[in-house]
Amino acid sequence: MIDLKNMPIGSIKGVGSKTKETLNKAGIFTCHDLLHFYPRTYEDRTPRYLLHDAPLDTKVALVMRVVSSPRVAYTPTGKRILRFSARQRENSPAVHIAFFNQTYLLNTFRVGSDWRFYGRLTKSQSGYYMFSPTFEPILSVSADTVPIYSPLTSLSSNKISKLIKTVLSSIDKNEIEDTLPDFVRQENALMPLGEALFEMHLPTDPRLLEKAKERLIFEELFDFSLRAERLRKREDTEIVPPMAKTDMTPFFNALGFVPTSAQKRAISEIEEDLTSSTHPHRAMRRLLQGDVGSGKTAVAAAAIFIALKNREKAFIMAPTEILAKQHFETFSSLFEKLGFEVLLLTGSTSAKERKLIKEKLVLNTPLLLVGTHALFEDDTEVRDLTLIITDEQHRFGVNQREKLLSRATVRNSLVMSATPIPRTLAMFLYAGLDISILDELPPGRQEISTLLIPPSKRERMYGFIEKEIEAGHQAYVVCPLVEESDDEILEREVSGEGKSELISATDMAESLRVRFAPHKVGLLHGKMKSPEKNEIMESFIRGETKILVSTTVIEVGVNVPNATVMAIENADRFGLAQLHQLRGRIGRGSDKSWCIFITSSKSHDALSRLDYMTKCSDGFKIAEYDLELRGPGDFFGSRQHGELQLPLASMSRDTTLLKKAMEAASVFLAKTEMK
Ligand code: ADP
Ligand code: MG
Repeated sequence: MIDLKNMPIGSIKGVGSKTKETLNKAGIFTCHDLLHFYPRTYEDRTPRYLLHDAPLDTKVALVMRVVSSPRVAYTPTGKRILRFSARQRENSPAVHIAFFNQTYLLNTFRVGSDWRFYGRLTKSQSGYYMFSPTFEPILSVSADTVPIYSPLTSLSSNKISKLIKTVLSSIDKNEIEDTLPDFVRQENALMPLGEALFEMHLPTDPRLLEKAKERLIFEELFDFSLRAERLRKREDTEIVPPMAKTDMTPFFNALGFVPTSAQKRAISEIEEDLTSSTHPHRAMRRLLQGDVGSGKTAVAAAAIFIALKNREKAFIMAPTEILAKQHFETFSSLFEKLGFEVLLLTGSTSAKERKLIKEKLVLNTPLLLVGTHALFEDDTEVRDLTLIITDEQHRFGVNQREKLLSRATVRNSLVMSATPIPRTLAMFLYAGLDISILDELPPGRQEISTLLIPPSKRERMYGFIEKEIEAGHQAYVVCPLVEESDDEILEREVSGEGKSELISATDMAESLRVRFAPHKVGLLHGKMKSPEKNEIMESFIRGETKILVSTTVIEVGVNVPNATVMAIENADRFGLAQLHQLRGRIGRGSDKSWCIFITSSKSHDALSRLDYMTKCSDGFKIAEYDLELRGPGDFFGSRQHGELQLPLASMSRDTTLLKKAMEAASVFLAKTEMK
């Protein structure tokens, strides 16, 4: 048997000190690490189409002969491109091939030479185009299924592929020691490790490749589940004194509405966590999951009330300053009625106020401190801190959560997630937490109507927004933060597609100010400083600003019940969970609300995803659908899933695998413990 972990990459032929350094930086030290650096994707370069049935706007492989000599040309904005044409057959239409900034290829493509081109095929009035395709001389093409690796600074996908092939050619796949326990592999019919690794890097058959991925995903999930199980066991042992039982009547009276039965259930679960007289009594570790608008804040308030009544302190941490401020206002007005103090600490709290807050934290008076991550930036001692709540949890990393928890005297923790997560995934991501679910919305909410429109109907939509504003309402216009890549700009210019449909928030605000004058149009984006953001948000809350143009910074938590329209530009650029969050900003009052997705996308997948959103308003169902479509790794979007670092699992479309891995892990642990 060979132990890949004992084979340093320095021992591979062709790995010099520079390559070694690059690999080390990416966390690759041994052949084991290298073979677990999986392809990002695979390209199917089988030349299976004739030009006239080749799908447009998708990547295809075409074998073609160069029919005109390459020459350097300029785009309307003066960028240099290399262009020539090629034909599949003598009498088939020419395909214009263009390379951006790669004029050194001038002598590569001789008239009459044959190549396999692989790239996105597009068609415009002036004919077929392929931009910056990959190309191989037809006499020396590689396999039809080509693994593509994420490049590492100086190492291109090709170079990585070569290195991996060198390693694989020196070993026998049957000699690679398997890392999964035998019984687990057999019960789940999984491919042996060696075979799976070979198939990943040198794919021979699509079905085998699927089996190989399945095996490796399973292993990641299995390892993760093992860690999660162990975590759960360790947390089980944290024993704390329970809080005294509290009469909740004054709290419910002050709340101003009757809690839904889901809220009541969650509140009594929390009461049980905090005050039960079971011996020994464990600290609360609870995840509160609820769809947007399901009323998580009131549930958090109940937990805080219990702590305050016990003369203890509570922290609640929000991911943005806007949201922290909003919580501060909600909680101040509630708890002042009940005779407790509420303080706010964010990045823009002055040094003087900070000092005051610090002084109060060491006294034995009960209080609630609301804040952003500024809460854990200093390490003032806090007296009797026994409850820590984090709102919109998926935006904080595990480390931040733990750092905050470490400041508590008694570590009762409530985590509120704004994104509904399918239960299996929640158990996995929030291993070791008990879960309460708010699966009911407060009464009197009207269903939001969601529509999907092309850009050509934008002006009609503005007419509609105008009517809503005249009826006293307000609107959001959301734009994704996008920049076109050079290739995208070039494609548009050369193929004469005209102006880009991508719209930045700044441009949008400018044009809406003209379109909607004299109504006030505000602009909010993440690059603004906090005081400016607050001012803009406040003007919208007061109803002075009629239209708020924004990036996704308004995605979490913001509550302006008078806003009844949300238009989302380039809606196809957002994940479904994100669209659902955004849409949750409207329909918060008693008036009918509309959400309008604008997209110029023609992609079938993008349109059917958006179409699903127009029909479904249940966050949990949307989450299941999104999970099935994109797998757990992509679920939160790349920027958010710091908690789930599974290189392969993002390829998984199969949650049943997750369940199986979790079961296998707990059986495995039970077995090893019995020994
Ligand atoms: P989320 O779960 O998205 O954080 P919030 O806690 O912000 O939701 O609640 C959304 C809105 O619903 C708030 O204006 C809140 O006052 C109101 N609300 C919450 N619970 C109820 C209820 N049981 N009855 C009526 N309104 C409620
Ligand atoms: Mg909330």
